[in-house]
Amino acid sequence: MTTSAKIGVFLSEDKIQSRVKELAAMINRDYAGQEVVLVCVLNGSFIFCADLVRHINVPVQIEMVSLSSYEGTESTGQVSFRLDVKQSLVGKNVILVEDIVDTGLTISFLLKHFKLKNVKSLKLCSLLLKRARLKIEVPVDYLGFDIEDKFVIGYGLDYDGRYRELPYIGVYGE
Ligand code: 5GP
Repeated sequence: MTTSAKIGVFLSEDKIQSRVKELAAMINRDYAGQEVVLVCVLNGSFIFCADLVRHINVPVQIEMVSLSSYEGTESTGQVSFRLDVKQSLVGKNVILVEDIVDTGLTISFLLKHFKLKNVKSLKLCSLLLKRARLKIEVPVDYLGFDIEDKFVIGYGLDYDGRYRELPYIGVYGE
């Protein structure tokens, strides 16, 4: 990848922002009168989570988790925490906020992990899902976009640490 390659817009800023509002509206409806904890899966979800939470109108707390590398996940099936939540989630309504579900291995690990924490409820909100790539069935309760098998960047998603700042989701070289 070179810095001169073109980046094609795959999902525009407007399209993303209106979908994020719709997802927040679903969460507001489902949790009316209750509190939720959004667990942001770093690094890729930081922008999605920040936009989402600003449309949430039920009482909300934010926690961050960070896992070992994606490459490690695919090659070895081993996932471990670099950063875990700072509070007990016992009895809480927890929503995992993920940028993209690809093979599903990362989020399956997290769902299993949080199910063991005696939470009141556990749901998954993912901006993107590459359904064709799934290696394991993952229940996405709040899904932004079901996308084809392309490597996407922007809106928090990186290539080699770059392009996270783009306000849209793009495909490199298209
Ligand atoms: P999974 O465990 O579902 O295969 O991987 C999920 C993680 O892989 C995402 O959180 C993300 O970090 C990375 N990933 C998967 N597909 C893409 C993609 O198209 N673009 C980018 N930038 N990261 C991806």
